[in-house]
Amino acid sequence: MTYQELVSKIVQLQDEGLELFNAGKSVLGKNILATHVGSYDGTQILIQAGIHAREYITSLLLVEMARNLHNNDLIQEGGIYFVFLANPDGAEIVLDGLDSIPCEITKNYLISANGGSTDFSQYKANVNLVDLNTNFDADWGNGSQNVFCPSTEDFVGFYPNSEREVLSLINFTLQTKPSLTISYHTKGNVIYYGFEGEGDQNIARDQSIGESLSEITGYPLIFTENSTGGYKDWCIDSLKIPAYTIEVGDNSIPHPLGIETLPEIYQRNKDVPIVALQKAIEYAQEIDFTTPDVINITKEVKNASNEKGYIARLQSRLNWRSAHRSGDSKRR
Ligand SMILES: [Zn+2]
Repeated sequence: MTYQELVSKIVQLQDEGLELFNAGKSVLGKNILATHVGSYDGTQILIQAGIHAREYITSLLLVEMARNLHNNDLIQEGGIYFVFLANPDGAEIVLDGLDSIPCEITKNYLISANGGSTDFSQYKANVNLVDLNTNFDADWGNGSQNVFCPSTEDFVGFYPNSEREVLSLINFTLQTKPSLTISYHTKGNVIYYGFEGEGDQNIARDQSIGESLSEITGYPLIFTENSTGGYKDWCIDSLKIPAYTIEVGDNSIPHPLGIETLPEIYQRNKDVPIVALQKAIEYAQEIDFTTPDVINITKEVKNASNEKGYIARLQSRLNWRSAHRSGDSKRR
């Protein structure tokens, strides 16, 4: 599969009547595509996938889910946002190699971080060599596998929320106000819930909802330990909403999971959106989305997004600005 074929699968949903919109932009300026099913009134949930580059099979899972839930009377109230591919630049690197990268210095930088290899099939990061699912501001930098230098995986970034994709997801979440979120990853066939430091009352709530998701998928439910900076962690820590990471695919299957694994994965996960929405509706009354904490995050993210050149500053820190310039002039 090529990157273009992957994006086509998402875009084709428009032909089936689904409305596509942008949840934000990647570092290289790609749109982060999203859709919505059900009603915009009432409780909303958000399901995102593909934040780790090599895990793009989860984007295809969301395409199937959205297709099958469109105009489906299983959704009685509320609605579901799908963010198909949170890390489009990374997925392109995995699927197409470095041909997509706009300049030689950047290519060499990526190859050097990849141990000198041009095989990027195992790549997880974004184009800045940041592992996006460690970059969120939730006990940032304290995960057991975190690294602090650019890397194909596990690099937390030079500061929390440094990456455009991360700010995009935060912005989109604050705009859509989901009462529950799910992040799809591969692999291991498990569901992670909770976050260290979360209050007991919320842990009990998250465990109870998680058990329902575990029951319908057959994936065991595990409390998250020694993992920080993920989207799920940020949702729990900052927004106080229930949030889950679902790892699809057996451990024995090598990365990236082939498209032939999708039917089985879909079968196990097809009821997740509906059950998650039902549970969110049930628990939504106790979720307060207007806490001072959330209002402060909204302000901070707005400032960061509006700050001209914040991405330019990050890139110059990585010595990229001149690299992009020379790349551009060569193309001209
Ligand atoms: Zn992952």
